[in-house]
Amino acid sequence: MSQGQSQPVWRFAPSPNGYLHLGHAYSALRNFDGARRTGGLFLLRIEDIDPGRSRPEFEAAIYQDLDWLGISWETPVRRQSEHLGEYALAVDRLRNRGVVYPCFCTRGEIAEAVAGQADWPRDPDGAPLYPGTCKRMSRATREAHLMAGRHAAMRLDMADACARLEQTLGWREFGEGDECRDVRAEPQVWGDVVIARRDTPTSYHLAVVIDDALQGVTDIARGMDLFHATSVHRLLQALLDLPAPDYRHHRLILDAGGQKLSKSRGSPALRDLRAGGATPDDIRRMVGL
Ligand code: GLU
Repeated sequence: MSQGQSQPVWRFAPSPNGYLHLGHAYSALRNFDGARRTGGLFLLRIEDIDPGRSRPEFEAAIYQDLDWLGISWETPVRRQSEHLGEYALAVDRLRNRGVVYPCFCTRGEIAEAVAGQADWPRDPDGAPLYPGTCKRMSRATREAHLMAGRHAAMRLDMADACARLEQTLGWREFGEGDECRDVRAEPQVWGDVVIARRDTPTSYHLAVVIDDALQGVTDIARGMDLFHATSVHRLLQALLDLPAPDYRHHRLILDAGGQKLSKSRGSPALRDLRAGGATPDDIRRMVGL
């Protein structure tokens, strides 16, 4: 927990783009149990910045499934889609600091720019690092694009942002247990990340950092698949003068084939398990709690 704050605040922050599965149950229970153990608050946050993928029925199912699991949360629930103006202000602050630039490239154009270069560096999620096309664009061309009404994403100038840091960045990592280790942040492995998308004035990275700060979140248990993203989150926190929560990146719940659970691979949803007769205690056992 950050210094100076008396009550721990934990949170579970699902995206309503599918039904919750065992992996979500493990994250939610780790945060809920953590809050209970530490006398803290448990918040639920709906990460619905993606209008194309978020659906009201998935959001309604999140409430039902968590309630069934015996999880209760503080209200009102924060829904990111209702706070886009707050994220836009944060983008303005970064722009005023001179660490972001507009990018007009489509995904296809980026793929084309790096095509044929087999050893082109990739980020921890496997996407090619941004080749910097729009960073090198002349001011006149950039202004002509903007005047013509072309929508731009906003990218962080990673080298510049890192050069502004006054100290090495890191975070307190507790993993599965209670033992703390200091992890050094390495945001540069992501290159010039998008912090505001073309279709919405934010990105996962920015929204999560703003919300965790605004909601006073002190403790975050989430899947190991977000471990590397924490480096970007720490960088944004430093640039925006926001406090650093403690992180607990937990093991991923895998299917019988050793693959991460996902809707696209047909992993059973919690509601399917429930319909098949599983109880909340069975779910706890299935995720190893
Ligand atoms: N919304 C993210 C997801 O569903 C989780 C964000 C987080 O815990 O930081 O994967």
